[in-house]
Amino acid sequence: MNKIIIVGGGQAGATVAQDLRKRGFEGDITILGDEPQLPYRRPPLSKTYLAGEATEESLYQMKAPILERNAIRYRGDGRVVGIDRAQRAVHLENGERLSYDKLVLTTGGRARPLALPGAEAPNVHLLRTVADVDAIREDLASARRVVIIGGGFIGLEAAAVARKLGLEVTVLEGLPRVLARVTAPETSAFFEQAHRAHGVDVRTGAQVTGLLGSPTVDRVQLADGEELPADVVIVGIGLIPNTELAAEAGLDVDNGIVVDEFGRSSDPDILAAGDCTNHPNRFYGRRIRLESVNNALEQARTVSATIMGEESPYDSVPWFWSDQYDLKLQMVGLSEGYERCVLRGDMASRRFALFYLKDGVIIAADTVSDPKDFMVAKKLVAARVQASAEQLADTTVPLSELLPA
Ligand code: FAD
Repeated sequence: MNKIIIVGGGQAGATVAQDLRKRGFEGDITILGDEPQLPYRRPPLSKTYLAGEATEESLYQMKAPILERNAIRYRGDGRVVGIDRAQRAVHLENGERLSYDKLVLTTGGRARPLALPGAEAPNVHLLRTVADVDAIREDLASARRVVIIGGGFIGLEAAAVARKLGLEVTVLEGLPRVLARVTAPETSAFFEQAHRAHGVDVRTGAQVTGLLGSPTVDRVQLADGEELPADVVIVGIGLIPNTELAAEAGLDVDNGIVVDEFGRSSDPDILAAGDCTNHPNRFYGRRIRLESVNNALEQARTVSATIMGEESPYDSVPWFWSDQYDLKLQMVGLSEGYERCVLRGDMASRRFALFYLKDGVIIAADTVSDPKDFMVAKKLVAARVQASAEQLADTTVPLSELLPA
């Protein structure tokens, strides 16, 4: 085995390459990407980079000297349009054909566009790439009013930055509460309140029916007929996994490229990692697709281990973070199916933890601005610790006392 091709230069792709070298792989490694930047970290895009507090270079996971030192070739003009599995080769958009011994798909996902006329207008932006954020920043520089469609992590983080930049901000969320898919009503209510306290007009249950104005959009229309003036519109309504390449090559795809616990697709010479995969999670006993840095990095390491014949199954408890204003939300576990929520601490102090219990077991936790309790919460969830509501709520006893001996 001498040639490894990685399709997609995000954090998963870059980590596969780096980890292969760490494990002693001496053959060719080529990352084929379709963005001009070197492989970069996306989380700052809706945080410090949007705020103008981080340079593009600071986002790079591997700067040029590291790529060079590790003999990792990155091609930003390497959009792959086809896989010839029989010949073990990929076809690039520019007509080139490159052969591989093992192929790794880390194609991630793309931002879901708003399916409304006007969504293509130049001042209506998705937020997934450096290019997206550069365009948003340019527009924000001369804007007064920003309408953000979507009250998920990206929409709320962008709202926090836009307020910091002194703009008038409205967040439109179609569901009855923000962060509805990922947190309990208590955490949603806390963040809605935090944004309102910072002057954001948060509207829940808000159905957007039109983007009005031409050539740029200047009003966002709601189902009740109200028209909200907007200089810039940011759309944060989710992600579509980039699975077309895998599907066209005949690999199993089902809301993600289907891989086993070692990151292997239905073709043993093709592996996959990151946002684009549907993978078995041993902790939950079922398949999931995740959109988080931790998952991208851990799966990437699983894949490189598999390639090197050091198989070790992916076995990670999902976790995630989000920064909004001075608040750091950290979440561990999947809370769906929880029976009870227990608050530890006081929301008014803007520092607390919320535990999700099922059959008396801690299955997930959200912590706000409490990294120390978050570290313990991660261990409690991973160890499937049983705890009573009284124990969890009692702040006079350190959380760590609930850890198994
Ligand atoms: P991606 O980062 O999507 O990379 C895939 C790359 O492959 C892309 O460059 C894509 O263009 C390229 N590609 C696709 N198809 C092809 C092809 N055919 N040929 C060549 N190249 C191709 N996660 C957290 O845990 N915490 C956070 O706070 C957080 N904040 C975020 C904020 C924003 C604004 C965004 C967008 C994401 C955030 N995430 C966060 C999610 C996290 O960034 C992703 O889970 C992670 O980037 C996934 O990495 P990936 O390598 O799987 O995919």
